[in-house]
Amino acid sequence: MNLRPPPSEDGTLTGLSYTPTKRDIYPLAVLVASRLSILALRIICQQMSQQIYDVIIIGAGAAGMMCGARAGMRGRKVLILDHAKAAGEKIRISGGGRCNFTNMYSGSENFISQNLHFCKSALAGFTPQDFIGLVETYGIAWHEKSKGQLFCNGRAGQIVQMLLDECAKGGNEVRLETDIHSIEKSDQDFVVCTSKGDFIAGALVVACGGPSIPKMGASGSGYRIAQKFGLNVIDPCPALVPLTFADCVKKSMRELAGVSVDVRVCYNKTVFEEALLFTHRGLSGPSILQISSYWSPGGSIIINLVPGTDMLSALKRARNNHPKQSPANVLSDFLPTRLAQSIVRGVLALRLADMSDAALMELAGRINKWTVTPAGSEGFRTAEVTRGGVDTRDLSSKTMQAKNVSGLYFIGEVVDVTGHLGGHNFQWAWASGIAAGNAL
Ligand SMILES: Cc1cc2nc3c(=O)[nH]c(=O)nc-3n(C[C@H](O)[C@H](O)[C@H](O)COP(=O)(O)OP(=O)(O)OC[C@H]3O[C@@H](n4cnc5c(N)ncnc54)[C@H](O)[C@@H]3O)c2cc1C
Repeated sequence: MNLRPPPSEDGTLTGLSYTPTKRDIYPLAVLVASRLSILALRIICQQMSQQIYDVIIIGAGAAGMMCGARAGMRGRKVLILDHAKAAGEKIRISGGGRCNFTNMYSGSENFISQNLHFCKSALAGFTPQDFIGLVETYGIAWHEKSKGQLFCNGRAGQIVQMLLDECAKGGNEVRLETDIHSIEKSDQDFVVCTSKGDFIAGALVVACGGPSIPKMGASGSGYRIAQKFGLNVIDPCPALVPLTFADCVKKSMRELAGVSVDVRVCYNKTVFEEALLFTHRGLSGPSILQISSYWSPGGSIIINLVPGTDMLSALKRARNNHPKQSPANVLSDFLPTRLAQSIVRGVLALRLADMSDAALMELAGRINKWTVTPAGSEGFRTAEVTRGGVDTRDLSSKTMQAKNVSGLYFIGEVVDVTGHLGGHNFQWAWASGIAAGNAL
């Protein structure tokens, strides 16, 4: 096939004046078409090979990035998919913007789960000290606030950037704004169909957290994936969440909004001693957030507003020493004035001297044993975490792999392991991510 124009009489090529015939064009078209189809095939093949991974992780949050980085550094080809615009959004807003990234004393006693032993192995495999070591490698300054709670000195975004850098070190590919349409499993592989194409991997890690704070990209997708593959899911409910009063109580309590007091709060046998904050709608503050993770609708919590003080003895002493004092005045020695005034409402006596032992006992009870039956909670809209999730009985505690579905892993908040307030939830995310990352 000669594609060159005929030579001119003087032997030079005069291509400009040459007009090809139909016979000439046909082989040219065939050649171009065949070259193009080879090119197209090559592109498809290249794309195909790009879309085949060792591991696909759903969720570029705390657990997902930690897992991806570790698996990548172990030589696995990792793709992390997330439907959000940015990775690690919950980390960014955590700890009031400073990220309470771990707790030095994190242990299984700081977690709620139907199987409290489940978290032990992962927590032992990656400790708070290990995470502190990582943070320090990146020169991120931190401090202990109280009770072993470690916060960044600067912005929480430093932790997100650190995780992204770790993912990059592990050669991870992070694809954001990618909606997952379906997940299927063949004998060997998981096929994940998304808004950005289809991806294939031998292992799938579900790290999409719980449904708390949906506006941050949170979803219940992890539970649906678990159920699709036959895993049990313990009913998810909001945890670390403010509790609310019934409408009729709200009105009378509204005047207390903003008052904060150190309390001892009990629900059944669970006790926390931390601050309580009155809000316009109910109760919040660390003590209430902590107890909310144990509370069930309909249950009553008992609040000691002056832990360490026997109010009956204190009131009797005051009646002896200062009989003309008003009850509100005495209470103001122990409680913020607004709260003291609210508590004595309905007490008719103007002086302590006019109060019987029974009346003092009733008043002391309002302080040492204030019984509150919340109408509900603020729900997933504001809950920091989710209690419940993928049943730990269906997972290996060493690797986080589903016992009955080889290659399928669940890590982080999607699992039925819920930490107390104070950095424990992130410690679980890091530790469970590493446990899976080491096994992939
Ligand atoms: C306001 C707030 C403050 C907090 N502060 C602290 C704190 O200071 N210390 C602490 O220990 N814990 C804190 N927590 C809890 C902590 O953020 C979580 O426990 C932790 O982020 C859980 O990690 P995870 O990786 O399992 O889930 P997430 O960090 O929630 O990550 C899940 C990721 O999956 C993505 N995703 C979800 N569904 C899909 C889907 N269908 N398709 C694709 N992607 C999906 C999400 O966009 C997200 O990026 C806080 C939580 C909140 C809400």
